[in-house]
Amino acid sequence: MNSPSSPGLPGLLSRLLSRSIERLFGRSPAPQPAAAKIPAKSVARSYRASELGLRPDTVPHSAMRTCQVLQQAGYLAYIVGGGVRDSLLGMKPKDFDVATDATPEQVIKLFRRSRAIGRRFQIVHVMYGREVIEVSTFRAKQENAATDAHGRVLHDNVWGSIEDDSARRDFTINALYYDPIGDTLIDYHDGVADIQQRTLRMIGDPATRYREDPVRMLRTARFAAKLGFQIEPATQTPIAELADLIHNVPPARLFDEILKLLETGHALQSLHQLRAQGLHHGLLPLLDVIIEQPDGERFITAALTRTDERVLAGKPISPGFLFATLLWQQVLVRWRERTGRGEHTIPALMSAIDSVVDEQCEKLAIQKRIAADMREIWSLQPRFERRNGRSPLRLLEHLRFRAGYDFLLLRVESGEAPAELGQWWTAFVEGDHDRREALMARVPAGSGNGARKRRRRKPRADAAPAGGSTPD
Ligand code: ATP
Ligand code: MG
Repeated sequence: MNSPSSPGLPGLLSRLLSRSIERLFGRSPAPQPAAAKIPAKSVARSYRASELGLRPDTVPHSAMRTCQVLQQAGYLAYIVGGGVRDSLLGMKPKDFDVATDATPEQVIKLFRRSRAIGRRFQIVHVMYGREVIEVSTFRAKQENAATDAHGRVLHDNVWGSIEDDSARRDFTINALYYDPIGDTLIDYHDGVADIQQRTLRMIGDPATRYREDPVRMLRTARFAAKLGFQIEPATQTPIAELADLIHNVPPARLFDEILKLLETGHALQSLHQLRAQGLHHGLLPLLDVIIEQPDGERFITAALTRTDERVLAGKPISPGFLFATLLWQQVLVRWRERTGRGEHTIPALMSAIDSVVDEQCEKLAIQKRIAADMREIWSLQPRFERRNGRSPLRLLEHLRFRAGYDFLLLRVESGEAPAELGQWWTAFVEGDHDRREALMARVPAGSGNGARKRRRRKPRADAAPAGGSTPD
């Protein structure tokens, strides 16, 4: 397995160093002179947006209002990114981002409920109730941008023109500027043609763009899967060679991107996409774990199919549950190892959980709250096997019962836990008081042994995980 090295001291030092430099020189550079601009790649095409099927009444009020306020104050304001791309494709956009020539300070002055966020990439969040519109200021690529040793750009806060801004976006289809008030769409990189030809094409020289920001490799896989587009060869080719650069990306950012990949409603397809291109090797530690373990395939397939169905039905998904499914095989393997060495079932599970959480949190910066959810879902699993006495009723009252039960059903679906166990719990969950009493009265033999009794038994190598549900 290509597990990457941890960030370690040098990584930490470089982060501290870059922070000190940032403090010394300030965070938001003033608008830059024209010299910082890169030459235009092409001349813009301007379309009448309605002729491409874009209609202002499909733009949410929040995004529309943001554009109106900015334009009335004399600034340019366009909807960019996924909102335009997905609308052109007849898909429902996840969000609508706005790009403008107003600086973050100027944007904040116009909107009472707004605040600047981000460092490497400073943007303004404008709030409408619980809805948030991200407003970013047009940026220019920097000629002599501060980079890390591998070419990764550390700051991206040099303001520029709309044309500059279009050149530093990732894909041609993501660099379309829609003005819903003026009914225009501006296209500097033939993105409309690529939409029509269903092609994912990186703007500029792909290898350089991946070096500047290795996360773009993940975005390639994500958009190809989400949109069902073919990846243009020059966009795809450098990835195999550059995949290792992903390890220079700060873990928190990696976590955000992988979560986006999993929340597209096409998570399974995205992972297949990564594998088909050999991208999973070392691209993300988590993916190595998921994809390379044959036992885990059925489980992951079941889990991601369920996740995709939920997303496409517009239901929320819980990151804790999602990551608990993704990392379960790793927990399982370590749990088996430990019981195989003679450790008791429960302590062996707890220490397997600790080791997986510690390792993955370091690589991926899984937030504490999410890690806590994962732990809870995992540690509930052996409790489903205890069906003696009043244990099932106590478990039913557990705050995280539902998540634990859903997780159990995935283990059943993948063949890891016995079907009987899943059926019993489903009947128990759905049953009324009498039915529950009847179920508890006829628990299959050997399914009710508590932890105390189990501890006395000589541990079996294969007894740990689901095997424990059908002992003796
Ligand atoms: P989604 O539907 O998943 O939100 P999106 O295209 O809107 O897709 P975001 O991550 O929201 O993706 O980013 C918004 C826009 O910002 C992108 O469309 C792209 O133009 C630009 N962008 C985002 N990340 C990068 C990046 N790493 N490099 C260059 N441009 C980027
Ligand atoms: Mg977006």
